[in-house]
Amino acid sequence: MLNFNMSKIVYIHTFGCQMNVHDSEKMLGVLQKEGYSSTDDPCKADLIIFNTCSIRQKAEQKFYTQLGRTKFLKKKKPEMKIAVAGCIAQHEGENIFKKALYVDFVFGPQNIHMLRDLVSERTASIAIEDNHEIAVTDLPVKRGDGVKAWVTIMYGCNNFCSYCIVPYTRGRERSRPTENIYSEVAELAEVGYKEITLLGQNVNSYSSDTDFPGLLKKLDRVGGIERIRFVTSHPKDLSDELIAAMSDLPKVCEHIHLPMQSGSSNILRLMNRGYTYEEYIRKVMRLRAKVPGISITSDIIAGFPGETEDDHLLTIKALKEIEFDGIFAFKFSPRPGTMAAAMVGHLIEVIKSERLSEILKVQDGITTRKNRSLEGTIQEIIIEGDGETDKEKLTGRTRTNKIVNIPKINPETSSGQKGAIINVEITKGRPHSLEGRPVEK
Ligand code: SF4
Repeated sequence: MLNFNMSKIVYIHTFGCQMNVHDSEKMLGVLQKEGYSSTDDPCKADLIIFNTCSIRQKAEQKFYTQLGRTKFLKKKKPEMKIAVAGCIAQHEGENIFKKALYVDFVFGPQNIHMLRDLVSERTASIAIEDNHEIAVTDLPVKRGDGVKAWVTIMYGCNNFCSYCIVPYTRGRERSRPTENIYSEVAELAEVGYKEITLLGQNVNSYSSDTDFPGLLKKLDRVGGIERIRFVTSHPKDLSDELIAAMSDLPKVCEHIHLPMQSGSSNILRLMNRGYTYEEYIRKVMRLRAKVPGISITSDIIAGFPGETEDDHLLTIKALKEIEFDGIFAFKFSPRPGTMAAAMVGHLIEVIKSERLSEILKVQDGITTRKNRSLEGTIQEIIIEGDGETDKEKLTGRTRTNKIVNIPKINPETSSGQKGAIINVEITKGRPHSLEGRPVEK
């Protein structure tokens, strides 16, 4: 049994999406109440948690490699506990113990509330129940940032895109009550947070005391919060009301992540995405007409089963036609248990790789050109801290979610501090970021 009077240390390794990053914050929130503090060094930990992602094969392989390494740590420190959480835990269940005998417990994304009992061995070593009721209750969250916070507004997904494992691992859609979300955001504002990002697999289908545009309207009134973002939006559920909310509400930022996945309507049908390319681009045009200067980013899958060279060329054409501000593109990787894994027409790796390279090359040119076109413009940024690669710089983001690096400002002044909202002139547009210099407001 763990002694809660003694301070314990936890190391959480998070794989995959922002949803998982926020789930890790919840795990830390639960464990902090049990006297745990966190570390970045697994060797110092009493408890190691792998918060896993199975959305892509690569993330899954990385997890198993990291898990294998902990075997040696556990040999040196047998009292150390090792846990597997997240989507792989949900999907694999008991099999994890067979694959790695040294794992102590396993829990799914809907069972974070059971972590307290799992660490104290008050419950069996596996918790992967699909418990919708409990999953919407509010868990304590340990956030580290102080400026931007993630706020879950809904869990699960009803869409069953043919390549995706999420509806099987995170269950059906459940929305948090509007009042709970409002209270959480108001509390964040009170302790100084400036920016919130509302999280859900498909925020557009949020449905509780109000719908998603209604929720945005409510949150736009929270004093102290300066920016509101949200991910992810399903194109089929992007309504005119939501576009109007983005246009009218001052705190809702001019950025949307709208996964297109393919420029071929035939492939979109096989993906079970619920829209055609023509419908997708019409929504993009409506967004650009109503929200001037909006940046639009997207996800693309290269080499879906059955994708012909013509389908691939339609995706390339779509990229050139739409000119996204940025994309996340991946090779298709079959996820066991999904419809796409069982489809005919899987492509060989070399073709998927070639198509992915071509997609990235085309988009890199577009992103660089778009970033360069911002040179000389004035943008508002919120300073998030030191630059990631250059500590002599500060980094911030525009309302359109572009990273801007600027020279360090005297930290004694209010504008040189994390959380400061300042205006910058963009001096250089790079492929993945911008450079700027502070200017008077
Ligand atoms: S919308 Fe599709 S891709 Fe997104 S989580 Fe749901 S099933 Fe997966």
